[in-house]
Amino acid sequence: MIVVGAGAAGAAAAAHLARAGRRVLLLDQAASFPRAKACGGGMAASVQAWFPFDLRPVVETVIERVRFTWDLGDPVVAELPGEAPFWIVQRANLDAFLVEQARASGACFLPGCSVQALQRRDGRWRLQLGSSVGSPEEEGLEALAVVVADGSGSRLAAGLGLGPSRPRFATTVSVEVEGGVADPTTAHFGFGLVPKGFCWAFPRRGGMSIGLGSFIGRPADAATARSEADAVLARLLPSLGFAAGAGQRTVNRLRVWDGHHPLHGEGVVVAGDAASLCDPFLAEGLRPALLSGCRAASAIDLWLAGEAGALAGYSDGLRRDWGDSMAWGRRIASVFYRVPGVGYQLGIKRPTAPQRIAQILSGEMGYGDIAQRAIRRLLLQRG
Ligand SMILES: Cc1cc2nc3c(=O)[nH]c(=O)nc-3n(C[C@H](O)[C@H](O)[C@H](O)COP(=O)(O)OP(=O)(O)OC[C@H]3O[C@@H](n4cnc5c(N)ncnc54)[C@H](O)[C@@H]3O)c2cc1C
Repeated sequence: MIVVGAGAAGAAAAAHLARAGRRVLLLDQAASFPRAKACGGGMAASVQAWFPFDLRPVVETVIERVRFTWDLGDPVVAELPGEAPFWIVQRANLDAFLVEQARASGACFLPGCSVQALQRRDGRWRLQLGSSVGSPEEEGLEALAVVVADGSGSRLAAGLGLGPSRPRFATTVSVEVEGGVADPTTAHFGFGLVPKGFCWAFPRRGGMSIGLGSFIGRPADAATARSEADAVLARLLPSLGFAAGAGQRTVNRLRVWDGHHPLHGEGVVVAGDAASLCDPFLAEGLRPALLSGCRAASAIDLWLAGEAGALAGYSDGLRRDWGDSMAWGRRIASVFYRVPGVGYQLGIKRPTAPQRIAQILSGEMGYGDIAQRAIRRLLLQRG
């Protein structure tokens, strides 16, 4: 079977499938791994539960507290309890590590291989390749089953009727800055600086991963996004102890969750950003990428073993365990980012907010739980 894309979702799927004893070919268009990947690398340590091997070799920082600000002031600090830490990884290293785990279990990894299209013929998938670094027999690959995990710019998902036909995107700008970090165990989330979004600064080994994301409205073009980001960074970076112009700025479009959609077809599932699973409020895409990669592997394994409903079970399970929370996340984003000043006061400055935030970041609680508590509170006030 074939996995397209060796990011967090695809490499996790390949590692699990190879461990299950399946013959796996993992393809990625990047010429070599580790490859550069714009990502803050923040993820709940609870993802460890989905893997039979230790992820800690690639964890660079264990975050102990999260600091929220409004326009760089009015701070709220949430202490993360010891049993629910938040990890920072360098994405390039995490993905390469998962690829190595897949290879160690017998998967074959082919970098420099761009998949242009998938066609179903006689009960098999045929992959059309844009470029192949391999031998002629690797061209025009075929497989019984495919995991599509080609990321936010997926060319494959919509054509297969998987995920939204017209995906929704957030605009992000990422900056890697090198140098000493005053408090290497605190992650920063800044509101009130980025229109319709927020900025984050995560400490990692040797510096910080900083990013800006805008989540509602039409995505800005790259030039506008970059010049707006420069103005924000000129204030944000000095507040963190870095020069105003530090770091190279990269603009990316991030596919975010936008409604429930089928994530499977006959012998095919879509995972990670390609499945539009990324949180539309806080841009959390790593946890759903890893979750969907792991679940895609077990669904495909069961389907290959003859369990006809396994792939439908994949779509249903992700809807229940991730999509339902994201539906609330999308509603919260559309209200919060329209009136962020009010959202900050009512949502983040509430006395119970630091504890709830810690629970959200650790994956213990979803947006649905938060929304239901808020609704219950309103009903009690009215009653
Ligand atoms: C600036 C920024 C900061 C972020 N910070 C965080 C964060 O701190 N925490 C968090 O949880 N999420 C974060 N995210 C979101 C997170 O990075 C994504 O949700 C995550 O990368 C999704 O993983 P993936 O495996 O689905 O896709 P990717 O990691 O993008 O992997 C897709 C892979 O597919 C390959 N590929 C693409 N097309 C083809 C093709 N046609 N043929 C073969 N290979 C192909 C690509 O080369 C790539 O390696 C951030 C995103 C951005 C943009």
